[in-house]
Amino acid sequence: MTSADPTGGKPGFLDGRVKHMLIDGEWVNALSGKTFDSRNPATGEWLATIAEGDAADIDRAVRAARRAFEGPWRAMKPDERQSILLRLADLVDAHFDELSLLDTLDMGAPIRHTRGSKRHMVGLLRYFASMAVTLHGQTVDTSLGGDLFACAIKEPVGVVGAIVPWNGPLMAAIWKTGPVLATGCTLVLKPAEDASLTPLRFGELLLEAGVPPGVVNIVPGYGATAGAALAAHMDVDKVSFTGSHVTGQQIVKASAGNLKRLSLELGGKSPNIVFADADIDRAAPAAAMAAFANAGQICSAGTRLFIQRPIFDAFVEAVAYTARSLKVGHGVDGETDIGPLVSKRQLDRVLGYLSAGEQEGAHALAGGRRLAGAGYDGGFFVPPTVFRNVNDDMRIAREEIFGPVVAAIPFDTVDEVVARANATPFGLGAGVWTRDVGRAHTLASRIRSGSVWVNCYNAMDPAMPFGGYKMSGYGRESGTQQLDDYLNVKGVWIRRD
Ligand code: NAD
Repeated sequence: MTSADPTGGKPGFLDGRVKHMLIDGEWVNALSGKTFDSRNPATGEWLATIAEGDAADIDRAVRAARRAFEGPWRAMKPDERQSILLRLADLVDAHFDELSLLDTLDMGAPIRHTRGSKRHMVGLLRYFASMAVTLHGQTVDTSLGGDLFACAIKEPVGVVGAIVPWNGPLMAAIWKTGPVLATGCTLVLKPAEDASLTPLRFGELLLEAGVPPGVVNIVPGYGATAGAALAAHMDVDKVSFTGSHVTGQQIVKASAGNLKRLSLELGGKSPNIVFADADIDRAAPAAAMAAFANAGQICSAGTRLFIQRPIFDAFVEAVAYTARSLKVGHGVDGETDIGPLVSKRQLDRVLGYLSAGEQEGAHALAGGRRLAGAGYDGGFFVPPTVFRNVNDDMRIAREEIFGPVVAAIPFDTVDEVVARANATPFGLGAGVWTRDVGRAHTLASRIRSGSVWVNCYNAMDPAMPFGGYKMSGYGRESGTQQLDDYLNVKGVWIRRD
């Protein structure tokens, strides 16, 4: 720990014992007895040993979730589920320092970033609590003869499997659990192998909040074993997946056995478009953080930075200036802006893209090399990297890197930049920086992505839907649209005469 460590050390949750999986309200070992280790990506230091679930544990968890779904949980009233969600929100609020520190230790994000998300995390749970009592179906005046009463009622889809990545462990756990509790579904959550600790601590809070046994089960383990088993399980009614598009494609195939419902939150290569009339002083640092926040490990990161030609040189230099001035270091240091990448695998992947960029002729104005030496030993640190001399065909301009790397690309006209921004298989986020209101509306309408941010980037709110177009997935998180994904609609016809 550095002298600037604001945390006062490790949470008691990291007490040296094996962290178990949560099945049917009990903390249990894997049936195989296997475990895996969790390490701090800033130092390589061992944090915990975790029970490693596989297909047999997933099956046990799905059975528990099915029993819970068919049992008293089904009869629980909306206001009772709301109370549980509100208690959970209070518990997350009360334990937020510990939860955010666990996120920081386990996957590297700066403590300022993880702590700063409190309002959104607690707000999400309170939003889902409000949904528990406001979801309703509709009556329909049909045009058929006779005295018919017709209504469309909403019912929970049943047992949900959730598979999540490591880049926001608490956020992922809340995003997947909230709608389940609000709608009356049950859940088997498989956290990412690189970041299981916060979801497991969150599991303790779920029990404390009064979530009945089997309603939420948490099975840590690897994707190829536990994740694949959950995606293919014949008694899972829906899978909600967040992760890469490649795994998303495997999940779609695995879901075919029982044609389970899917929602997919996948990757992106989001354009961030800066017009010459933009407020440059505001746009330049924001464009840097759109790409570098969470060390670039954000699915909607603005990694293709299109800059209108008259301001290209000045703007790209301003972004590079911000990049150089960001403090890269251990997440627990309260001064850190950019933490390490989550793992050696992710480090190798990002370094591969840095070399590819240079080989293809791009020029790194800032960053470009792994950080090593004092303060960085044992960690996976890559500094914010700004590439110029990029063209649209380079790998760094086409593929999701998931590291702190931005490709700066000049453009001239609206039509041209719209076409180039849309020339990607992805469609998750997009930024537009301009003072021209008409142009802002034009871009917001013509860009094919699930979110468009004008004169801001990555703004999020529990009531605003978030998700992808094209290969960035389908289904939404947050907003009433997310809840619809966890509900079936049943048409009921009753003849009255
Ligand atoms: P990943 O796809 O490798 O892993 C995600 C999860 O899937 C992990 O829990 C993993 O164990 C599991 N998994 C892996 N193979 C599996 C398989 N064959 N069957 C079932 N499960 C399997 O992704 P990652 O590298 O952990 O995360 C980074 C990716 O996630 C990026 O592409 C990023 O854009 C995306 N992401 C998207 C969003 C969003 O909301 N759209 C949010 C965060 C991250």
